[in-house]
Amino acid sequence: MTRFVAIGECMVEMSPTDQPGHFRMGFAGDTMNTAWYLRRLLPETDSVDYMSAVGTDAISASMTDFLADAGIGTSCIARRTDRTVGLYMIQLQDGERSFSYWRGQSAARTLAQDAEALHRALSAADVAYFSGITMAILPPEDRSRLLAALSAFRTAGGEVVFDPNLRPRLWGSPDEMIAAISRAAAVSDTVLPSWEDEAAWFGDADLLATARRYADSGVRTVVVKNGPAPMLLWDKGETSHHLPAAVTAAVDTTAAGDSFNAGFLAGRAKGATLAQAIRAGAELAAKVIQSRGALVRT
Ligand code: ADP
Repeated sequence: MTRFVAIGECMVEMSPTDQPGHFRMGFAGDTMNTAWYLRRLLPETDSVDYMSAVGTDAISASMTDFLADAGIGTSCIARRTDRTVGLYMIQLQDGERSFSYWRGQSAARTLAQDAEALHRALSAADVAYFSGITMAILPPEDRSRLLAALSAFRTAGGEVVFDPNLRPRLWGSPDEMIAAISRAAAVSDTVLPSWEDEAAWFGDADLLATARRYADSGVRTVVVKNGPAPMLLWDKGETSHHLPAAVTAAVDTTAAGDSFNAGFLAGRAKGATLAQAIRAGAELAAKVIQSRGALVRT
């Protein structure tokens, strides 16, 4: 039995329908997407919790209900009376999707305010999952509090999994992002980066350079994803290449990385080898990108 806790921000998603000016409301967010897929892939005996913060208004209640209905534990979601949840809207213009965000004051930004709450959430888990977006939304002091809690969790035998998910627009500067991502990786056992982003912001010459950089900070296992190109697995100094699954038509690559991570982590939790777990992640990601939306009922 494995107990997962994913830590981060879930947002309201408004996506366009066929009728101009009409939008469909949903919920999404990188760490929540991974939690949602994990819950669908794992047996009932495993648990998946989400740690975040929401408001006390109706939309916050709808979001929490959505998570609970998906089978995700919500007892680690704090409720703030003075804030509400973030929102983003997808717009289609000449066939291109663009995203607008309203998340600057979201309740999730307060998720790591309380060391005791962090400790409570982590002490009920075996694997903690977070991302560079989780780091980006937190005030610097809370970032340090989260990393200290994760470090203590790791020392106590927990496993920390991190997806750098580099989003320069969420950070004050690229230097701030690079420093914070490196600190997050330094408390992690497994890191699941995407090469294109890492090359752009860390200047890695190839996938091996990305893996080495994380391994040098004490990470045991790194899977470097690379869109439709082969992935690189680094595991305790051993490297191997792994092919993605076949995709006939990529319809919407939203959540490709998030779903890959879920397939990989669920595979590992079920006792698969790392190669089999990568295969499971790649197969799920391939299905997800052949349908529209972040959360695809495969
Ligand atoms: P992110 O969504 O984080 O940018 P990637 O684009 O690297 O992540 O994709 C994550 C995984 O999704 C890849 O490792 C691969 O398994 C799968 N994937 C993404 N794009 C494709 C594609 N065009 N064809 C097949 N698999 C893909």
